[in-house]
Amino acid sequence: MTLITNHLPTAELQALDAAHHLHPFTNGAELETKGARVITRAKGVTLTDSDGNNYLDAMAGLWCVNIGYGRDEPAEAAARQMRELPFYNTFFQTTHVPAIALAARLAELAPGDLNHVFFAGSGSEANDTNIRMVRTYWAQKGQPEKNIIISRKNAYHGSSMGSGSLGGMTFMHEQGGLPIPNIHHIDQPHWWSEGGDTSPEDFGLERARQLEQAIEDLGADRVAAFIAEPIQGAGGVVVPPATYWPEIQRICDEHGILLIADEVICGFGRTGSWFGSTTLDIRPHIMTVAKGLSSGYAPIGGSIVCDEVAEVINNCEFAHGYTYSGHPMACAVALENLRILDEEGIVDRVAQHSGPYLQQKWHGLVEHPLVGEAPIVGMMGSIALTPDAATRAKFAGNEGDVGLICREHCFQNGLVMRHVGDRMIISPPLVITDAEIDTLVERAWTALDLTHAQLKQDGLL
Ligand code: PMP
Repeated sequence: MTLITNHLPTAELQALDAAHHLHPFTNGAELETKGARVITRAKGVTLTDSDGNNYLDAMAGLWCVNIGYGRDEPAEAAARQMRELPFYNTFFQTTHVPAIALAARLAELAPGDLNHVFFAGSGSEANDTNIRMVRTYWAQKGQPEKNIIISRKNAYHGSSMGSGSLGGMTFMHEQGGLPIPNIHHIDQPHWWSEGGDTSPEDFGLERARQLEQAIEDLGADRVAAFIAEPIQGAGGVVVPPATYWPEIQRICDEHGILLIADEVICGFGRTGSWFGSTTLDIRPHIMTVAKGLSSGYAPIGGSIVCDEVAEVINNCEFAHGYTYSGHPMACAVALENLRILDEEGIVDRVAQHSGPYLQQKWHGLVEHPLVGEAPIVGMMGSIALTPDAATRAKFAGNEGDVGLICREHCFQNGLVMRHVGDRMIISPPLVITDAEIDTLVERAWTALDLTHAQLKQDGLL
């Protein structure tokens, strides 16, 4: 058998990869022809590939490496924990110190009376937990028929059967029989692409009131919960109009609907507070967390649950759990990550310095002829590419073609920026310096120039 290491030539690694590795969200045929990008190491905000190229990672991996790459402390915490107790479960009346410590720390950090944590291995698993938990909650309260969960089109909540059903991505639903029953989707508060002539404020109210309409249509006695990301991430970093969340909160309160905030991206400093719910003044009953919880150094997620829901759930044996619920190594790594975020003042710095600095630079991109809007909150932002900002026009041809062109120019200029349709999105490590922010925005501008030139050349502008 070949010894497969970093030292093999890229083409050989790519061929082995295409032969044996099935990738998430990847066209397998393209793997054969183009080959995968092989990332070999990373430090701070910089990735290095197998050909020695460096990239500024404006996506923090998959929105997760909040403390940046290459920190020793989580590695040491993992090694210490693995030597002491590499695994034990938290089923059947058992626990261990890392799970206790992490649950207690999350209860301290989380707003309001979100004082209880059910651990999972990922955001998808945590949202699956939420589906079963809210349905069990109402069943325990004698209302088992209150089991519909309302979510939104173009939301992303994970890839498992449950979480993929909560999500509102139709291209995902087309594969594998999603959604599962009793998930209902309303429209998203995406003013740029769907707002027409309505003002953002009115549009925010209109979209929020779809929740009220859905509750009335389905019956409040049938609706268990509403789930949403405070700011949609994978949907394109969609910042809702300011009127949206206060109205959603009112509707959930008045109709007795549980509110689940999916904080998988927004949590742990991304929006300039520990949680997006704090930034946007949302009072959820449950928050889904993952990603920034460990900065991606270990796979871990969870549901942070309020006193009332926890009390009801604790009245029965909740027949749910994962082998790796509260995995000791992952908990130890997450604790170390939370310590770094806190003691190094990273979350405060996003609120007070680096967030505003990035925002000011990012907003400057609207001066580019291809850019229509450049919303950003904390350190998650997007730009809408458009042939005409005044009318918020879409490009002729397939949605996403221009975004893809722009993304390729980003890569070629040492920048990892993702595209969602014809929106470009960023979510950099929170430790990004001012000089690195300057580089990020300069490279984005260059990629936009090159995209513009290519569109002109191809007669698309
Ligand atoms: N919720 C949100 C808001 C997400 O962005 C994601 C992942 N991108 C998930 C849930 C799923 O998390 P995971 O990939 O860890 O299962």
